[in-house]
Amino acid sequence: MTVTVERSGSVAVLTIDNPPVNALNTAVRARLVGLVAETEADPSITAVVLRGAGKLFVGGADLAEFDRPPEEPTLPEVIRRIEAAGKPWVAAIHGPALGGGLELALGCHHRVALPGATLGLPEVTLGFIPGAGGTQRLPRLVGIEAAVPVIAERDMLDSARAARMGLLDRIIEGDLTEGAVAFAAALTDCVPPASQRPLADPGVEFWDRAEARIGKAAKGAAAPLAALRAVRQGVEQGIREGLRHERETFLALKASEESAALRYLFRAERAALRPADLRGVAPREIGLVGVVGGGTMGSGIAAAFRNAGLRVVMSERDATALEKGLGTVRALFEAAERRGLITSEEAEARRAGLSGCVGLEGLADCDLVVEAVFEDLAVKRAVFADLGGLCRADAILATNTSYIDPRGIVAGSVSGDRVVGMHFFSPAQIMKLVEIIPLPETSAPVLATVFDLARRLGKVPVRSGICEGFIGNRILRRYRAEAEALLREGVPFADIDAAMRGFGYAMGPFEMQDMAGLDISFLNREAARARGEDVPEAPGDLLVRAGRKGIKTGAGWYDYAPGDRSPRHSTEAARIIAALAGADRPVAAEVIVERLTGALAAEGAAILAEGIAASPADIDLVQVHGYGFPRARGGPMFQKDRKQNP
Ligand code: NAD
Repeated sequence: MTVTVERSGSVAVLTIDNPPVNALNTAVRARLVGLVAETEADPSITAVVLRGAGKLFVGGADLAEFDRPPEEPTLPEVIRRIEAAGKPWVAAIHGPALGGGLELALGCHHRVALPGATLGLPEVTLGFIPGAGGTQRLPRLVGIEAAVPVIAERDMLDSARAARMGLLDRIIEGDLTEGAVAFAAALTDCVPPASQRPLADPGVEFWDRAEARIGKAAKGAAAPLAALRAVRQGVEQGIREGLRHERETFLALKASEESAALRYLFRAERAALRPADLRGVAPREIGLVGVVGGGTMGSGIAAAFRNAGLRVVMSERDATALEKGLGTVRALFEAAERRGLITSEEAEARRAGLSGCVGLEGLADCDLVVEAVFEDLAVKRAVFADLGGLCRADAILATNTSYIDPRGIVAGSVSGDRVVGMHFFSPAQIMKLVEIIPLPETSAPVLATVFDLARRLGKVPVRSGICEGFIGNRILRRYRAEAEALLREGVPFADIDAAMRGFGYAMGPFEMQDMAGLDISFLNREAARARGEDVPEAPGDLLVRAGRKGIKTGAGWYDYAPGDRSPRHSTEAARIIAALAGADRPVAAEVIVERLTGALAAEGAAILAEGIAASPADIDLVQVHGYGFPRARGGPMFQKDRKQNP
């Protein structure tokens, strides 16, 4: 039975029971339609309470049905019938009411909830909009200003806020079903349903502001602005036309490439957190984390762990470096407090859970130590040799190396079963990707623990085999090489950057080099040349030799005004590069995009063939969460697959 029925006096209590999330699949919808008729026909029933079994009220539509044409009865039809019922329906919300689940509740005449429930319409994150009246009924219940962020900007509500807005009739403490039944039994007449309530147009200025804000945040994705348009349509043309337009937009977007890409990533992200081979392997308790190195990465990693509630000890070489590293982390908490993201008590608590030590002895009690010292094999080897002797035998030792083979870091000093690569991305407190790099000996509990930790940190963990640069930096190298190949063919670098921005990247490959600084890879090449290796001159080398190291020197591929990170055309850079590339031979933006995303996919295919990545989706997760590949396009492997199997 997908929806069970019980009686409590004159109130029928319907429980949607469709594990795991009470998705509104065809069977549930059909049963609800049947139950509307049954409860209407039964004169002994005066009201209906609708609730969910398990943890959620209703998690939404059934995504598994999304790739097929909609089946009758559709959700709008179910909701229309509930709304039209002569007896009041009361949604009793104990846990998340999301997407179609919230739309179902909006179709009821009343809503009550437990204090901890969450309500939201996250459809735009999957590339479509609410398709069963959410864009029409919510504004009529709570007003346009409050409704637009929920519908188009992923604003999730808790019970308290939902009640203040007028979305909930009542918050019920204690037994929700009992409270809801009492509430329903006391109802004397039917209030007008949401769709029949009046709605005032907030005026053109409101719409313009909302459009600018939502358009900017959407980064090229279509759904958020379409959601706003759907709300506006219902305001300007009335509920009938609003519902029709909403459904039409929903159906069109659900069939779009964008939605296919976003649903694919959604599934991949969920799968990434629970690798099949680690099911049933219990993660270890981790309470205290050591971070060795308080530089760019160490400070970000320390902040990421503290933000997730783990206590952190930072180790540095000397007191000055330690103070600097700890100061960087504290400044991140202060910034979060200033921006209103955390309370001052929370900021204080985060500072209190962070301590430091000079040398490694202070890390002896840690459950996990993440090493983030210089990218130098000898330095890393010395750190691991010391940690191996110092830390408890069950403590996990992780390295954040970008390129060095972790087997070489521990060879002869530490047993590999407790060692793993945890490759964070800069800034580590923000970037979601963590590459997890097992050694051949890494034990299953150690691996299960770092995947579990990644989940606690809100990260997306992707397992990588061992190769130079692992998945992400190896692909980045190929991408940069292809950008330079285009450059040498005479394609102006500003055109290359513009094409990739047009595709959805925040910046193009040369702008990215300016941001990161051109000098480090230049120095690496110089060091290799000094060792007698034959390293050809890279375009970036010419710029560095002219003193152009990127934003930090006010000049790189572009010029930068002091305090302004926006790139401006540089005649000097153009002249330097022309010496290498000759006359301009521009090509269409699509050709540039095709070449560069093709390079990503080609290296991805090689990585798959070598078994470095377990699936194409893992490669796409790396690109989207670590390297700025536009989310709404799914990833290079997804794109390649859609081209080959349209
Ligand atoms: P960094 O130079 O900013 O910081 C390294 C820190 O380690 C310095 O503060 C240094 O004082 C400290 N240190 C060196 N030896 C130490 C020791 N024996 N004990 C304690 N502290 C010591 O470097 P970073 O950019 O933070 O990089 C650190 C590691 O992370 C490298 O392996 C790098 O490849 C990797 N990584 C860097 C990035 C990035 O974008 N910067 C991204 C991913 C991974």
